Amino acid sequence: MGSLEIFCAGASIDVLPAKKVKNILVNVFGNGISKKAIMDTKRMFTYAGTEIRFQDSGGYQIYRAEQENREMTFNPDLALIRSDKAINISPKHVVETACRLQPDIMIALDFPVRKISDRGEQEREFLRKLGFNMKWAIETASLRKKYCLNVQLFIPIQCYDLDQFHLFHNSIKYMSYDGLSIPLRNLDLKEIALFLLRFHQLGVKQVHLLGSTSFFVMALSAFFARHFFEWVSLDSTTWRFMAEHQGYSNPYDLSWENIRDEVLVDENIPMICQCPFCENMTFTYIKNLPYADKVAFLRSHNFWVTEKAAEDLYANASNLLTFQRFLRNRSPKTREIDEFVDCLSLIDFFKNEDIGVLKPYFKITT
Ligand SMILES: [Zn+2]
Repeated sequence: MGSLEIFCAGASIDVLPAKKVKNILVNVFGNGISKKAIMDTKRMFTYAGTEIRFQDSGGYQIYRAEQENREMTFNPDLALIRSDKAINISPKHVVETACRLQPDIMIALDFPVRKISDRGEQEREFLRKLGFNMKWAIETASLRKKYCLNVQLFIPIQCYDLDQFHLFHNSIKYMSYDGLSIPLRNLDLKEIALFLLRFHQLGVKQVHLLGSTSFFVMALSAFFARHFFEWVSLDSTTWRFMAEHQGYSNPYDLSWENIRDEVLVDENIPMICQCPFCENMTFTYIKNLPYADKVAFLRSHNFWVTEKAAEDLYANASNLLTFQRFLRNRSPKTREIDEFVDCLSLIDFFKNEDIGVLKPYFKITT
């Protein structure tokens, strides 16, 4: 039985969801680009009493730069650069930042594959990035070994399907690393489940799911943390992003309630949230708060309920019957829950079989 950890991403010394934030995820560009950024990040860790510090690579910023047609260079001899016109990053910058920030875990540099639905295009995109991803994973691992062996290393997986994953995995299987990290933008829930099962079959003990803390992704992670891995972690900036858009996270299933000024709120809706920030509050009171106070309140509430939902999901993932009952009590999405539990029971039943056996059940043709 492993642990399930939720990481707060998008935080800064001025924008934290609580006085104490146990797990924080930072990134190379945002937190390592200058002496001031490094100092502020260290102050944030101290101020928030952070216990586990996670350093994401600059992959997401490369993804954005590519979308925005900015000039991209990967030159270790130039400085780390991020501007409106250009970015520069390399494994050397990632490891240098880790040496300065001293995180507990770091992710190797990666070149994300774009969100594409056409199969042929996906294959071309995967192959176009594969060379970078192999080279950067190997280089990051070798520099980590030399300069900061105390920092755990997770390797990001940039692909669309399991065949592509196997091709990439062949190039890293003799390398020294501590876990895998998987971005979720190109995968649905069943595909994520298959990837996680395959990681488990290959002997991987620790996994990070990048960029989502949605209810079903957390439920899936809770099940895998209870039954397959030593560690499963997730991160997202949703607590902050949704607060800025005046979204209140429902503590039961993390769905969003809009509490903008113009929304009519029924005074009879009870405040079901157990978080310390909602104590003695009403929705009308929250709705009418000045914008800055409302956003600050929502950040705190949103992150608290995300952590609590993860804790509850983990506690109830001991077996599938208990889990299904729990999920049905928490979410009205009965059909999705039943499909989800069917998926988990197949995963459990076929866990020692060739992964190909599962593909037809999951309607995955590649
Ligand atoms: Zn609350």
